[in-house]
Amino acid sequence: MFDKILIANRGEIALRIQRACREMGIKTVAVHSEADAEAKYVRLADESVCIGPAPSAKSYLNVPALIAAAEVTDAEAIHPGYGFLSENADFAERVEQSGFVFIGPRPDTIRLMGDKVSAKDAMKAAGVPCVPGSDGALGEDTDEWLRLANDIGYPIIIKASGGGGGRGMRVVHTDAALIQSVQMTQNEAGAAFNNPTVYMEKYLQNPRHIEFQILADEHGNAVHLGERDCSMQRRHQKILEEAPAPGLDVKLRNKIGERCAEACRKIGYRGAGTFEFLYEDGEFFFIEMNTRVQVEHPVTELITGIDIVQETIRIAAGEKLSVKQKDIQFRGHAIECRINAEDPYTFVPSPGRITLYHAAGGPGIRVDSHVFQNYYVSPHYDSMIGKLIAHGASREQAMARMRIALSEMIVEGIKTNIPLHQDLLSDAGVLQGGMCIHYLEQKLAAKKG
Ligand code: ADP
Repeated sequence: MFDKILIANRGEIALRIQRACREMGIKTVAVHSEADAEAKYVRLADESVCIGPAPSAKSYLNVPALIAAAEVTDAEAIHPGYGFLSENADFAERVEQSGFVFIGPRPDTIRLMGDKVSAKDAMKAAGVPCVPGSDGALGEDTDEWLRLANDIGYPIIIKASGGGGGRGMRVVHTDAALIQSVQMTQNEAGAAFNNPTVYMEKYLQNPRHIEFQILADEHGNAVHLGERDCSMQRRHQKILEEAPAPGLDVKLRNKIGERCAEACRKIGYRGAGTFEFLYEDGEFFFIEMNTRVQVEHPVTELITGIDIVQETIRIAAGEKLSVKQKDIQFRGHAIECRINAEDPYTFVPSPGRITLYHAAGGPGIRVDSHVFQNYYVSPHYDSMIGKLIAHGASREQAMARMRIALSEMIVEGIKTNIPLHQDLLSDAGVLQGGMCIHYLEQKLAAKKG
């Protein structure tokens, strides 16, 4: 096992990874920008290195500074967390070339999955069900585009192969709009992602977002840890997640989960990963794979009892998976609310100093957060200040516990989206479960109008 790990991230996930390391007896190196010098995980780390000024481009995305920090502290491995450089194949390569272990998949796997066309091809070949669409990238023949769109049936969606973060997509409803829409998406993709390649998919109108967590080691073993329903989204940003997905058939879960695990074995996947699907009318359609730990991993940890972050470290150290599929059991239900420093209804970010802070607690409650009273929420970074996670024997109990936790959680001095979560936890559709990905935006629009 590693003696020392450098955590190339900040905020709640830096603290989460640090806690995993401490539990495993591994020393930690925190890296931080000038703005994060007083952070909790910096103080609790065995060593810390300032890697640059506040803007991410000059600190958390500064590859030479990160590698130098690992060198001067004699760290053996680098954990990238999520966001920042976690899905950057060039970074993973640099880490390995510099003699450190990258805690994540091999660089070529990150590259394969980072390109949506190659990812979809690989998944199709591995037997994972995909959204019907073009066979790979669109060529130059515009008549062929029209034929394809009519074969698939409108509405269709044009997606950039190099896209991400909900950008580089365009829905098309008619032949008349098709050619111009493809060309516009190509131009935008070329400018934004340096890759004009686009492809075509059927546009599913009212799907749910359901994703599968997998773990795979270097010895050809892979398991799935079930699914998460992340359909409560605004502008493709997840706000509330839960596991298991309400109403999902157990046989179907096991079938799709096993397909994902098998795909991992086929491509020689290593580490934790998430297969994202759209789910409509009882069918799953793969959209993309995330080659890192997810923000919402705790809901899966609570229902399986498996520490996903510790597993990523063990896998990177070359160990075999500590669990077999038959040993994995799903117990109860878990819900996560992402707590953001923002106006609950306009979503305008609300950075500033937290003047009063009381975290929630009690049975089944987990708070993953790096903030504290008098903490300054910097405008330079993502607005998420923590995650409130509730576990219960049933979905009803998890929701009841979440409601109490939300009422106990006090964050003053800045605005947070806690009132929105309180609204959601008493909403008829949310209580019923199984709402589609447009539900939250429709609800917000109705409230406005
Ligand atoms: P990104 O990498 O930008 O997150 P995804 O491929 O994961 O892109 O798609 C982001 C979101 O766009 C999905 O969660 C879904 O809301 C919507 N979307 C993508 N593909 C489709 C599709 N074929 N039909 C309907 N919605 C889609």
